Formats: sequence, C-alpha cells, structure tokens
Amino acid sequence: METLREAIKDKKRVVVKIGSSSLQHPETGDLDYNKMEVLVRELCNIRNSGKDVVLVSSGAISVGKKSVHLENDKSGKVSVKQACAAIGQAKLMMIYQKFFAEYNQVTAQVLMTKDTITNTVNRVNAHNTFSELLELGVIPVVNENDTISTYEIKFGDNDTLSAIVAALIDADLLILLSDIDGLYTDNPRNNPDAKFIEVVEELNDDIMHMGKKETGSNVGTGGMNTKLQAAKIATSAGCDMIIANSSDIHILHRIMDGRNFGTLFKANRDEDFYLADYIMDMKEDA
Ligand code: GLU
Repeated sequence: METLREAIKDKKRVVVKIGSSSLQHPETGDLDYNKMEVLVRELCNIRNSGKDVVLVSSGAISVGKKSVHLENDKSGKVSVKQACAAIGQAKLMMIYQKFFAEYNQVTAQVLMTKDTITNTVNRVNAHNTFSELLELGVIPVVNENDTISTYEIKFGDNDTLSAIVAALIDADLLILLSDIDGLYTDNPRNNPDAKFIEVVEELNDDIMHMGKKETGSNVGTGGMNTKLQAAKIATSAGCDMIIANSSDIHILHRIMDGRNFGTLFKANRDEDFYLADYIMDMKEDA
C-alpha cells in the first residue's frame, strides 16, 4: 500500500507558505537573497513537474520597515505598519519577480482580506482568478492586503491565510515553511523531553492543545497555535498539510519526492466545512 508520504508525489496543486523570519538574515533583518533564490528555484521546479504552485509570502511589513529605517519602531501605530506594508510589498514583489524571471516563470500578485472570502461575489472572483492564473501556468504570490486591512477584515497571520488559499483553490497540499522542524508534544526549546510528531492522522483536542503562542523569532506572527488553526482549515477542506523547517529550503523537493520531513497532517475532509462560514465565525470570535 502506498504510504502517506509516497502519496505526496501525486499531489497536483501545492501551496507553500514562507514567513518573514525565514526570508531574513537574523543578524540584520535584511532579506536573505540566497534563501529567496533557492525558494524560487524549488517552486519553479515543482511547477515544471506539472503541478500548480502558489506561494504565500510574508515580509511586506518587515521589508517596508527596514526600507525606511523604522525596524525599531515601537509605536505600534497601525498607519505606520500599513504604510510600511505598502512600501515593503512592492519591494518584495520586485525581488521575487527578478528571481522568477531567471527561470522564465511568470508570477502574479494577489492581495487578500477576510472580505475576499466572506463576500460571495469577491470569493467567486478570487477563485476564478486563481483558476485562470494556474491554468496559464503562473505562480501567484499571495499576501494579506496589509495596507488596507483593518482589524475587522484582517486575517492577522499568513499561516491562516495560506490554509484559506489552499481551501479556496482546492489545493491538495499545503506546506508551511517555519523556523521549527514540525509539531512536538511540547515546546522543544524549553522542554528537552518534547517528542517530535511525524504524522497527525486526526486533529483532536489533544493535538490542538499543543499549540503554543510563542515562536522562536520575533518577526512575523505565526506560532504553533496559528499553524494548528491552519491545519484545521486545510485538513477539513480535504488538503494535506506539512510543517517543515525552512533552514534549508531544498527541503521542498525532498518533501515532494515523498520523503519523511516535517510533520504531516492528513486531510480529513469534513462535508460540513464551509470556508466562508468558518471565516465568519473567526470574525465573531475576534
Ligand atoms: N502579512 C504580513 C506581512 O507580509 C505578515 C503576516 C505574518 O507574518 O503571518 O508583513
């Protein structure tokens, strides 16, 4: 019988999410071009193997802050973050396009808010746009529209956003590249007895409780908790999800070769799962 890992080779539509901290040099906060280059090359190669590929990339706010020397801004002012996102998103996209162009790969920018999903017309439009882009062989680069999204319409983190994108476009695999190897029974940075979990067949309450708010980095927003929320959305929508370490981005082709890296959350389609309703409920919880 084909193992869960071997089945990864047959996936047709893959969403890859990378966080701000994985794109930067920890010493300076400047972009790590080598990492971005490997990421782009890996994505193009997955695309060349005949699969649809979508990249969800963070980094707009941190790249923007860096550009105007506001990286130490502690004001927490929303308008500052939104202005920095406008600066950083354009810069991030320019750099991605430069790398993608080396492989003759066309890209597109898609910026989303919660309204993209909760408003039926917007959701259908977004779905159709993604379908068209993928049909054209394009690799869309997605982020939250941080420049205009206010508290009410904000997803807040790209782990959740990437799972929503995966559900919206009926992806069959979501890979979250993170600063940790995958899911542990406890935070391995504090607890040396924490055990690594290779496969989660069912996202039960015990697993959901393993989500810890803290992350190893202080850039970006995703802790294990947001990754488990993402797993809930992706697996309920019928999509496998893998959390893997971004320290070596070549891990992407190893995963696609069906090898055992990271934690795999097995898809468990819930016939009662409706993306828009799920997002509406998130809105009420906020
Ligand atoms: N959308 C934010 C950005 O691009 C990042 C959100 C996140 O790190 O999860 O700056």
